[in-house]
Amino acid sequence: DRLLTASADGEDQAVEAALRPKLLDEFIGQERVREQLSLVLQAARKRGAAPDHVLLSGPPGLGKTTLSMIIAAELNAPIRITSGPAIQHAGDLAAILSSLTEGEVLFLDEIHRMSRPAEEMLYMAMEDFRVDVIVGKGPGATAIPLELPPFTLVGATTRAGLLPPPLRDRFGFTGHMEFYAPAELERVVHRSAGLLDVEIDPAGAAEIAGRSRGTPRIANRLLRRVRDFAQVRHDGLVSREIAARALEVYEVDARGLDRLDRAVLEALLKLFGGGPVGLSTLAVAVGEEAETVEEVAEPFLVREGLLARTPRGRIATAAAWQHLGLTPPQAPAA
Ligand code: ADP
Repeated sequence: DRLLTASADGEDQAVEAALRPKLLDEFIGQERVREQLSLVLQAARKRGAAPDHVLLSGPPGLGKTTLSMIIAAELNAPIRITSGPAIQHAGDLAAILSSLTEGEVLFLDEIHRMSRPAEEMLYMAMEDFRVDVIVGKGPGATAIPLELPPFTLVGATTRAGLLPPPLRDRFGFTGHMEFYAPAELERVVHRSAGLLDVEIDPAGAAEIAGRSRGTPRIANRLLRRVRDFAQVRHDGLVSREIAARALEVYEVDARGLDRLDRAVLEALLKLFGGGPVGLSTLAVAVGEEAETVEEVAEPFLVREGLLARTPRGRIATAAAWQHLGLTPPQAPAA
């Protein structure tokens, strides 16, 4: 329910299908991953064989699902989409694997959240295109080998480090997705505005891009909120001023901080002189659970260089004072 979370909500899912780039050339940014992937795909096409399995790692909302669909489209192959949490038993995975057609792309989101037995089944499937289906229980259980058609697994994970090494090693290629630069997000906003029939000028797109935390999903979501504002309160054109005013209404500030982020920073600066202060004390000061502060607000504040986690507690950086327009207390003269 936060406007700035990177994970998809229901509205996102409905609109995102329409906003997804369909081919590698339309995919904005991530130059390195795009180039590497393009080579992997071209080589596979040349050999007339399924490409190596692909692992995409990076925070949510950066385009991993989109890239998996692009991989299938570039290979002219069908795609099956599922996720780690949906595969609780090895049998769930066996059912999916055995119904794949030759060359099909299997997209497995949040692959690090698959159950252990499923993971072990996946090792063999990735390597030998074969699974052992266990029939029966206890001493009478037998393993029935099942041949699979060659397929391409595209796994996605928020952190490649979370994957057990035997699984990680079975991917021929790992693409590390990075947060997008403002100029790239501007292009995302322009492209989406075109598809959604929103009139926007370059400064308006830049304003939205600057508040989108390096994440295309957030950029697309903010664009929709700004569009509402522009259509209801104005003539529909998204300019810098309209974008800034709209996002003020939604409490998204110039740097992409929302109400909670700012509350945490303000408490740290105004109540604790910039810290160091313990997480639980800081959380009480903003009236939130410690986990919420730690998992929801802090990662972005740390990434932006506004807050640091130290063994003595949380401290604000000089940039934090500046961002909130406050003056740090003078250090006593030496
Ligand atoms: P992830 O799977 O990493 O969470 P998605 O692939 O679902 O992210 O992307 C989220 C949204 O952002 C989609 O609507 C997609 O259209 C858009 N998007 C992501 N990356 C790009 C990109 N490079 N260019 C244009 N749009 C993008």
